[in-house]
Order: sequence, then structure tokens, then C-alpha cells
Amino acid sequence: MANAYENQTLDENTTRFLSEAAESHFDFHSVSTQAAGDERLKKAVNNATMRQYTGRQLQLLELPDADKLRTLAGNIKQHALENLDYYLELLRKNVEKNGGQVHFSTTGEDAKRIVMKIAMENRCRSIIKSKSMVSEEVNLAHALEDAGLDVVETDLGEFIVQVSHDKPSHIVAPIIHKDRASIAKVFSEYFHSDYNDDPQALTAQARLHLREKFRRADLGMTGGNFLVAETGQVCVVENEGNARQSMTTPRILISMVGIEKVVPRLSDLSVMLKLLARSATGQMMTIYTSIFGGTRTAGEKDGPEQFHLILVDNGRTEILASEYRETLRCIRCGACLNACPVYRKIGGHSYGNVYSGPIGALITPLFEGLHDYKDLPQASSLCGACYEACPVKINIPEHLVRMRRDIVRHKFNGRLERLVYRLWGWGLRFPFLYKWIGIAQKFDLRRRAHGSGWIRSLPKISAGWTQVRDMPAPAKRTFHQVWKDRPQDSQNPN
Ligand code: SF4
Repeated sequence: MANAYENQTLDENTTRFLSEAAESHFDFHSVSTQAAGDERLKKAVNNATMRQYTGRQLQLLELPDADKLRTLAGNIKQHALENLDYYLELLRKNVEKNGGQVHFSTTGEDAKRIVMKIAMENRCRSIIKSKSMVSEEVNLAHALEDAGLDVVETDLGEFIVQVSHDKPSHIVAPIIHKDRASIAKVFSEYFHSDYNDDPQALTAQARLHLREKFRRADLGMTGGNFLVAETGQVCVVENEGNARQSMTTPRILISMVGIEKVVPRLSDLSVMLKLLARSATGQMMTIYTSIFGGTRTAGEKDGPEQFHLILVDNGRTEILASEYRETLRCIRCGACLNACPVYRKIGGHSYGNVYSGPIGALITPLFEGLHDYKDLPQASSLCGACYEACPVKINIPEHLVRMRRDIVRHKFNGRLERLVYRLWGWGLRFPFLYKWIGIAQKFDLRRRAHGSGWIRSLPKISAGWTQVRDMPAPAKRTFHQVWKDRPQDSQNPN
């Protein structure tokens, strides 16, 4: 059936991102510049993030003292991190007491091998998987597919990502970059059906398909928002019920979770859960909160025969040993992404990795190496909105500055950049010289504006400023001049 969107180029940004990512060196500058010029992408991302951001603001007002609660949540996570070896061991003991098995994996490859081994040993062919950032981090679904297993993402957003061979672009809302038309096109191609962009019809189509998968699955996989050391349980929050299906229907259950997700006590969840949904989607609580662990016991109607908890390190202990330890507090709520003016303009794919936004700009270089991702810590105005939004009070701007320091220390920035900053630093030591450079610069910029008040393009190393927007020309009179010449009355209010 012909439709209005047939000839529209869909997901250009995704295509660019995927081809960039296929190359060894990720070029943040070119991808983010293209993304910033993509009005459709910006609109989709901006609308969704603003909705979640506003929802969060309103929900936090409902709490008697949201700031104190954030401090407490940060302290709980920090305490768990400071004593991680103790709590992980306690967790292991309690999971085993509940009848489960715990596997420690040092790398992502280890984690995938463990999943594969469990699947093979139990002759599992069909896997239903709920949303999990750590499984995205280790690229689990692709590895399982390559091994010939039938694996399906059951979260609607992740399902769309899977069938369109895309990547998630937001920690909480993986298809924030897609609009209704692109999803309808993906579905009509995947299901060989007529184009229909009615959201209810699209959801019903996915539901019908997934229901059959749920029925046949012999292995279920989840992530985990929190691991409770005291009880040996995993806590998963979600809105669709697919994670609960994944943990109750199949005979084998695997939860793959990062080691930093541990909290000491069950009662700590009362703090964390109050903040998580509010910060993520502006909900008081998610629709489903499941706290589970162990295997099905006699008399229970559902639950797995085997429960495996895979604890993934994959670089986390190195971060733990560094001055970036605090970043491991992250509960992946996505609030910093929604608050970030940079993320809103360029979307998640520009960050070149599964974690995007302010927290991605920090942890991607930590996980993948600062050299290859040295542009990410610069992708911030340091406005502090991410710190304000973070429910566990990670001081993201401070860490970003620290990381910029590391870039300079390791000389990862280019020679030209180093020279410019050296000259600037030198100029700052001579106020007279600095003033004259400023006057010359102002003259030059005003000349380039040709009286319009806006500069359309700048040359050479300054070209980036005008790549995707015009720059306002400097005012005729500087702030210092205006301040000096202000009326005497206003200088002395008394
Ligand atoms: S850094 Fe903070 S705001 Fe950002 S995702 Fe993590 S917990 Fe949420």
C-alpha cells in the first residue's frame, strides 16, 4: 500500500552512526554536527526528553525533601561501592541459599560465554530477553543470534531496535530518535503487512508476535536495576510486564547485571525506588516492580527451574579503583540525558556507544578508552543540569573537567589545540595585550556580520561555531563600557 512516507529517507542519523561505528575510530565531530543539523531528529528527541524532564520536576515536588532523599540515595550507593567485595560475597551466599547460581564474569566476552554455556547445557533454543543495558554493553543479543539461537527483545522499544538493526539512543527510551512514521515503516517491512502508523495498531502487532515467543521460550533473560545483598534478590522495574513474563514463564532464567548494582538491604529499595521512576519517566512508580531470586519452590505456580545470576565486571573494578569511582553509583535513570542541552540537540547515537548523554560522555571513555572517545568529555557546556537532575548526585561536571585534564595530560588533544590554548594562556598574563586582542577580534567579527548582527560562517579553527547555527555579532559597546558609563544613581542604591 502506498503511503505518504514511502519515499522519505528514514533514520539517516542511524545509518550514519552505524557506518561510523563500524570504523575503528569514532568521529564524534562529524556525527554530532550532522545530527545537530537534522531537524526531524532534534524535534523527536527534544519533545520526548522535555516531557520526561518536566514530569520529573513535577514528581519531585511531591516528595517532602527530594534533595535529602537524593543525598541519601547517593550515600547508599557510595557505601555499597566502598564495600563492594563484602556485599557481592553476601549477595552470592544469599542467591545460592535461594537455590540460584552466581557467575562472575570479568569481561563482556566471559559474560556471553556463560550465557551460551547455560543455553547449550539446557538445550535451550528460544530466548526471550527483557531490557538490559549491560547486555547491550556486551552486545549479547547479536552473539546469541550468531550462535543460531532464536532471541527476541521483548521490551517494545528494544524490539523495534532489534528488528530495525538499530542501536538504542537513550538509556530508558531506546527509540527516542524514531518517530511514528519510521516505526510504522519498520513494522510493515518486518511483518510484511500494510503500512499503518496508528500507535495502538503497531503495539497490537508487536504484542501478537511476542505472545507466541513468550509461549515457546525455554530461556528468559533480564537485567537488574538493583541487587539486594541482604536477601540475594534482583529488583527489576518496568512498565510493560515483559520482564515479569521473562522471569516467570521459561524454565531457565538468567539475570545479567553489572556488579555496581548491589545495594546492602531490602529497605534501601524504598529510597531508590522512590527516585528511580520519578527521575526516569516522571512516574511515581513504574507499573511493575519485581523482586525475585532463586528457583521455583514446591507449590509455586510459576518461576524458573534454574536461576543464574551473571555479575558483570567488564572494566568496573578499574573504575572503582580510580578517582571516577562515584560514576558507578549510576542507576541508569536517564535523567541527566533529559536535562542535557547537548543531548537534546544531537541525540544518543552521536555518542558512539550504548551509553549516551552526560553519563555516557563519562563512562564510555572509562569503559572503552579515553583516546578513542576523547571528544565526549568536551560534549558538555558544564551547565550543571545533569548534576541537578541526578538522583544519586553524581557530580558529572566535575568528572568531565577531570577527564579533560586527563586528555591534556596524555596529550590526546591535537597540537593546534595545544598551541591555541598556550597562546591564550600567555595572552591572559598581559591584560593590556589581551584587551587589544579583544578589540581586534570584536572589530573583525562585526565586519564579518556585514551589519546584519549575525555571522554566517567563520574560517579555519573557528568554523565549528557556525557549522550548524549563526553566531551573534558582538555588541557595539562591551559590558565593561556599559557598566562604567551607567548613571551614577544606579551605582549607589543607598
Ligand atoms: S548519572 Fe545520574 S541522572 Fe544520569 S543516568 Fe545515572 S543516575 Fe541517572
